[in-house]
Amino acid sequence: MAFPCFDQPDLKARFTLGVTAPTDWSVISNAPGLMAETMSTITATQFAETRSISTYLFAFAAGPFELLNRTAGLPNVWVRKSQVHRAVPEIPQIQTVTANGLKFLADYFAQPFPFPKYDMVLIPGFPYGGMEHAGATFLNEDAMLFRTAPTETDRFNRSITLLHELTHQWFGDFTTMRWFDDLWLKEGFAQYMAYRTMAALAPAQDVWKRFYEQIKPAAYAIDETLGTTPIYQDIPNLLDAKSAYGAIVYNKATGLLRALAFLIRDEAFRNALRTYLHEHPYGNAQWSDLVGAFERASGKNLEEWATAWIRQRGMPEVTTDWSCSDDRLIGLTLTQQNVLGEGRTWPIATEVLLGYSNSEPVRLRVQFSDATTSVAPAKGQACPAYVFANNDDYSYGLFSPDTKSRAYFEQHIGGVSDPFRRTLFWGALWDSVRFVQMAPKDYLSVALQNLPSETDEALMRSIGQRSAFALHKYVWAQIRGELTPQFESLAIDRLFHSTDQDLRIMWFRTLTGLAATPPALDQLKDLLSGKLSIPGVELRPLDRWSMVTALLAHNDPAAKSFYEAEQKRGPEDERLKYSYVAGAAKPDAENKKWYFDDYLHDAARQEDWIEQSLGPFNFWNQSDLTEPYLRPALEALPQLKQQRKIFFILRWLSAFIGGQQSAAADTEVHQWLDSAQLDKDLRLKVLQELDDLDRTVKIREAFP
Ligand SMILES: [Zn+2]
Repeated sequence: MAFPCFDQPDLKARFTLGVTAPTDWSVISNAPGLMAETMSTITATQFAETRSISTYLFAFAAGPFELLNRTAGLPNVWVRKSQVHRAVPEIPQIQTVTANGLKFLADYFAQPFPFPKYDMVLIPGFPYGGMEHAGATFLNEDAMLFRTAPTETDRFNRSITLLHELTHQWFGDFTTMRWFDDLWLKEGFAQYMAYRTMAALAPAQDVWKRFYEQIKPAAYAIDETLGTTPIYQDIPNLLDAKSAYGAIVYNKATGLLRALAFLIRDEAFRNALRTYLHEHPYGNAQWSDLVGAFERASGKNLEEWATAWIRQRGMPEVTTDWSCSDDRLIGLTLTQQNVLGEGRTWPIATEVLLGYSNSEPVRLRVQFSDATTSVAPAKGQACPAYVFANNDDYSYGLFSPDTKSRAYFEQHIGGVSDPFRRTLFWGALWDSVRFVQMAPKDYLSVALQNLPSETDEALMRSIGQRSAFALHKYVWAQIRGELTPQFESLAIDRLFHSTDQDLRIMWFRTLTGLAATPPALDQLKDLLSGKLSIPGVELRPLDRWSMVTALLAHNDPAAKSFYEAEQKRGPEDERLKYSYVAGAAKPDAENKKWYFDDYLHDAARQEDWIEQSLGPFNFWNQSDLTEPYLRPALEALPQLKQQRKIFFILRWLSAFIGGQQSAAADTEVHQWLDSAQLDKDLRLKVLQELDDLDRTVKIREAFP
């Protein structure tokens, strides 16, 4: 919107920019500043000509920014002057990860950093985690400086964002997609390479476990629905590019690159990337160019692999069948079928794990493309206690445990000492719940049994979140009433008494999400008033607002006074924003009406305020109040698609459909969908989000 152009990534150009701004501002752009001329309070800055770049990579920022910790050899980080106090403790790590990542990537790609300098600019309310403008990455200020008390996992995920944007400088900025139908190519690679880089920089971090946790479940959650799309999508017009962003591009594509590296081995994978970049410097290329490079580097024909995984939608469910005689395996078969029942099979390369109670597991590499394969080397092995067909998460798909293995996980999961394996098995149990093979109540009791001794911060948090999800959606009110106080007591005990600080923070977040009864809400009030504190943890503004939101949502008698007290804390812009966000949780009809009108009709309302308030508006205990807005929310979709930024529609649908649990609401959405005049993209997005409501209804019916 700043200048007329054909906004098409293969029309690259060199840009020159001059900016006139108040003298006490800083101006940052793609290229280094050449000279600045000051006339009283105004300064004119002229920037050097850029390298050849696409229009979507051009950018400048101007404002009261300050450069912190300027150090030779470390990249520049620009922060708003008003946020310097928050930034000072965080900047050194941001710079170090980026500097080390830059060295690693230049070596990995055998291509030096392709632009003359690299700045990072922290932008308030930025609608994405980051954006990789050539030489000048913009980052979401709150994602870098943390609004909640941070843990090791938060810092790790921040490093991933930094390395993702950094990788784009090569993969995206230096060699660019020809058109947006290959958007997944740059996003998948940036995400995959961020983890690959962390695996080299921080090997103690169990990086591939984190990769599984952060990447895979979100991909499967879309890919197992009727709303899923292939990774490669036809994008006839720039306007349609918006629709392509989502978990298929960011998560499935990323997961598949790991599967590809496993299939053709790491060295061939790296050599192919080197070739691809060297053949298209400051130019454009497409998926077929990269497939060609992979084929040459590996000596393998990848056509079948590429067609099945990239051009077609959906994913396989892989099941195992095995039997023993005289303590020896006499057969092990893997069977794949399309999760959506749409036929076809996929070429799969995976590692099968035969697990034992008292000895080391056996790992078997298996490749197959047919519906069924017999795993020959399994024959004659000692009879395992369990089998898991996606060890170390190399492959992509739903790997359902067989009945015997699931029973083993339920009984012994706490005794699985490797945190990565334990995480994968917890994932398998959760899949069993979602695919109506295991009662949610049983999952909750395995969770209650094992959570007290779970020492892995990220795994503890994920079990806690899934337990809250199951309590709020998958079980009936009576079971929820029985189990909620047990989870609350556990969370209260652990948040004060865990010996590990990160665990205390994660238990605090878990309690905030679970607290529903007066004793638990009282703990939140004592934390807010300062009567209680968590040892070693200083709660931050968003921690406090989450507690206030819970009090409001549960209509606690003291909620109003805590809400008003919180509105008096902190700088004005924050107070206004977060009181808007939390206020949406107030459980009365008039309040809901006010917010809904505001969402659709207040053109001046900031988009990130709305996005963040959608969850509180649709708080899990308020389905009766929010149900009347379900249909209007659906009917507003075409308008929102036109007006809002790329991730908004998904968040909107997830909040409004996700706020419902009843069969009646499920039927209502299906009926509406049957007669609505919707474009294909919106229809698919509704189907993606409707899937979990369908599941909720099925699970409740199956386990009355
Ligand atoms: Zn990206």
